[in-house]
Amino acid sequence: MWVRSLYVVRMGLISFLFAHPSQAADEETYRQARAAMVSQQIEARGVRDAAVLRAMRKVPRHLYVPQDSRDVAYRDTPLPIGRGQTISQPYIVALMTELVRPTPSDRSLEVGTGSGYQAAVLAEIVEHVYTIELEEELAASAGRVLAQQGYDNVTVRAGDGYVGWSEVAPFDIIVVTAAPDHIPQPLIDQLKPGGRMVVPVGPVFATQQLRLLEKDASGKLSSQDVTPVRFVPLRRKEN
Ligand code: SAH
Repeated sequence: MWVRSLYVVRMGLISFLFAHPSQAADEETYRQARAAMVSQQIEARGVRDAAVLRAMRKVPRHLYVPQDSRDVAYRDTPLPIGRGQTISQPYIVALMTELVRPTPSDRSLEVGTGSGYQAAVLAEIVEHVYTIELEEELAASAGRVLAQQGYDNVTVRAGDGYVGWSEVAPFDIIVVTAAPDHIPQPLIDQLKPGGRMVVPVGPVFATQQLRLLEKDASGKLSSQDVTPVRFVPLRRKEN
């Protein structure tokens, strides 16, 4: 009996010693990959906002990609996430987040939840993120990861983001991560005076322009094209 329980304790100790260091080593490897991603891909290209850099260093991007892509999660590229959709290149996520100048009191809308990664990055900085995804399956899996990661300031909904989210509008920030061929009027209407919206506008499966729209205190819009980008198209719900 005594020998047996000692054996059990020893086996427990052995599995503890073997399981935990490797898990910790994985986490450390991912943390280093993330630090390299931020300095080489993001800071090197001119993103300076300290809160954005902090969020990009913190959010475990490998948990937002399919399991078999975890080892390539920190590469300088978009990746497939299922349903023909992609998680954006890390730099583009950082750039879009910086462009909308997020602050802790902001209420944000994201159109195109996808993996949930952009929502997590934004949720590190702002008060609340409302995010809409057309594909129910992606909305469900993103909602699961975001909940597991403890984000109680993100609300995910399956639906057509073209029409925005009138029940919780207006927004200080709107981030559109699928490309429409024109700016949806409902999104313009749901932007607060003083609000910022970033959206890739242009033709389907061709180069689009990443556009920053700002609404001044009097409600007047100004717009600036920042850089050419390629996003999956914004689709409309068929019904
Ligand atoms: N922000 C995402 C990137 C998603 S790719 C991330 O961080 O992973 C763009 C997403 O927009 C796709 O998942 C696509 O299904 C979704 N989408 C396309 N049209 C949409 C629409 N009208 N409303 C909501 N989501 C839409």
